[in-house]
Amino acid sequence: QVLIEVREVGKVYGNGVVGLRGVSLQVKRGEVVCIIGPSGSGKSTLLRTLNALEPISAGEIRVLGESVHDPRTDLNRLRARLGMVFQSFNLFPHRTVLDNLMLAPRVVSGVKPERARERALALLAKVGLADKADMHPGQLSGGQQQRVAIARALAMQPEIMLFDEPTSALDPEKVGEVLDVMKVLASEGMTMCVVTHEMGFARAVAHRVVFMEAGEIVYEDAPERFFTAP
Ligand code: ADP
Ligand code: ADP
Repeated sequence: QVLIEVREVGKVYGNGVVGLRGVSLQVKRGEVVCIIGPSGSGKSTLLRTLNALEPISAGEIRVLGESVHDPRTDLNRLRARLGMVFQSFNLFPHRTVLDNLMLAPRVVSGVKPERARERALALLAKVGLADKADMHPGQLSGGQQQRVAIARALAMQPEIMLFDEPTSALDPEKVGEVLDVMKVLASEGMTMCVVTHEMGFARAVAHRVVFMEAGEIVYEDAPERFFTAP
């Protein structure tokens, strides 16, 4: 079952910079796709077009059966089914960790407080932060904040998780704790698109590696072939 279908997508930014050029990509349920390539090659642009954080100039993107850039598509509903984790953790700084996890399920999905709280606590345990529920994001290390951000995305029970360089802003010794959480998600069958520079992660976890250059996908393959290609 194809969950993400990118067809011949082009993206030109307002200033004339080409972000994407004829990009096509399919992601099936349960697949982990890592997107790699040099800085400025369009990786982040591609990821952000998948949930309409970026408009596109050509082509079509279908996610979970919806045409993402069709003005008739209910983007709030679609985005609720897509979790996104950014390089900068984007947590609400004046809310506790627990409140960060409860907010979207309460406000967007109308989940009852008791249920939202249970779910949030279970997710904090899952990412190894059960004891941080009442802290504020600023009291946590970067690795801990990013694990909270992942738990917050999961609180909406998404069908797909998008990661945009989730470990790039972390001290090197914190990278592993975030990648470990992502590995668990992958092993549970979560569908994931991950923009990353972590080649070890791509090699060990990805079902497919996509290499971008100058706005195009220039190569894609299974990691065992990708990393041994000449
Ligand atoms: P990557 O994620 O691979 O580093 P990006 O998708 O961020 O690459 O960028 C692709 C190209 O689009 C680059 O040339 C970048 O400078 C340009 N770009 C990205 N965001 C914008 C923007 N908001 N406005 C104009 N150009 C942009
Ligand atoms: P971990 O390795 O579990 O991510 P650390 O050993 O770096 O965490 O941190 C231990 C405790 O110190 C954390 O629980 C956190 O509360 C606090 N801490 C760590 N880094 C920072 C930071 N940059 N700012 C504020 N508090 C921090």
